[in-house]
Amino acid sequence: MHAIILSIGDELTLGQTVDTNSAWLAQHLAAIGLKPVAHLTVPDDQGAIRQAFEESVGRCDVLIVSGGLGPTEDDLTRQALAAFLDRPLELNEAALENVTRFFKALKRDMPPRNRIQAMLPHGTEMIENTAGTAPGIYCNYQSGDQKTLCQIFIMPGVPKEMKIMFERSILPKLAGAESGRVDPVSSVIFSKTLHTFGLGESAVADKIPDLMRRDRNPSVGTTVANGYVSLRINAYADSREQAEHDIAATEQAARAALGKLIWGEGDDTLQDVVATLLKTQSKSVTTAESCTGGLLAKFLTDIPGSSAYFKQGWITYSNEAKTEMLGVDAKLIATHGAVSDAVAREMAVGALRRASADFALAVSGIAGPDGGTAEKPVGTVSIALARHREEEAVDAHARTFIFHGDREMIRDRSAKMALTMLRFHLLGQPLPL
Ligand code: AMP
Ligand code: MG
Repeated sequence: MHAIILSIGDELTLGQTVDTNSAWLAQHLAAIGLKPVAHLTVPDDQGAIRQAFEESVGRCDVLIVSGGLGPTEDDLTRQALAAFLDRPLELNEAALENVTRFFKALKRDMPPRNRIQAMLPHGTEMIENTAGTAPGIYCNYQSGDQKTLCQIFIMPGVPKEMKIMFERSILPKLAGAESGRVDPVSSVIFSKTLHTFGLGESAVADKIPDLMRRDRNPSVGTTVANGYVSLRINAYADSREQAEHDIAATEQAARAALGKLIWGEGDDTLQDVVATLLKTQSKSVTTAESCTGGLLAKFLTDIPGSSAYFKQGWITYSNEAKTEMLGVDAKLIATHGAVSDAVAREMAVGALRRASADFALAVSGIAGPDGGTAEKPVGTVSIALARHREEEAVDAHARTFIFHGDREMIRDRSAKMALTMLRFHLLGQPLPL
């Protein structure tokens, strides 16, 4: 079964309000197997709304509409539906009772203009609104030749009212809980997301070519956000059990191809994952940061209870601070430059010797926009990890990366890469990047 989501409002087409209703509705429809095949957005214009109805009913089984049911001149959805159906608007007693009840509860008189909200096209039904004035409209659309059948549900645009109406009155109908006009949905769409960091989108995709085939079920797609490349696995199946089974097999194949590059799933955060590794291994970490200005320490302390593994860190932005606070040899900085494996290693070693921690992470880089050279362009970042060897000895290894993007992105990716280096170390694996 296919669904189209239609959002109505000038504020949406003008970009003044972000259409959050469509995203929310799409997820809830997909969860019960109603595949959203299009999202449409039209302004508060009767002709445009009517045209959207005309073009949609032949393309979907269910048309979910929100917006334009208010009492003012710019709310034209009911008029557009009446015009599309070629039926008059008439007063609906149940809808009038819904509107008046709302004002009674507020101990206010109903303004005359709200009466329009009780007007429905002949032959349609009202959908109760328990959270606001505008009742929704349900229409079991059939074309004259019976060839086109479409269930139309119209809801108010206010996200809170829309959600309550959808969950109370529409979802049960679509899910088949209420026997009758809407065919119960027999299939489900079930999704799972796996997160990676460090490889670009195409590099990730190149590792899983079979999984990315468009005709595959479950399908696998990649998305990029905040430097993470995520795999979205969507399974279409007859039951939740089947969907979960299919997803598990696909997930296994993805994990076989990408290994520990996959750091988490769903709502996991990289911070959480690293914190859990530190806690379960009873290890602690300290930081010595230059270009990230404390962001790495912020990431490490994002998690409640982070004092279990993080006690202190240093922000040594200037060369002098690196020398004075961490004991980095000034000659080393003069010879190699502050952004170098050698200096990052010394920063990490200096921090580790001064803190009672098991590991030290150091970051030194050129976040830009200025300061880049041909040899070390903006985005060049050296990251080091130091650890204890024996009694007194410590050792450190460092890597220099080049990150793309603006200052904020470069700093963010640097801190995430430092977390990633620590994560692989805690996993006992070499960094596969
Ligand atoms: P309406 O029901 O058209 O009067 O919409 C009332 C208010 O709800 C609008 O002024 C918007 O602020 C908000 N709204 C309407 N449609 C959406 C949507 N698709 N996503 C998010 N907010 C919306
Ligand atoms: Mg509106």
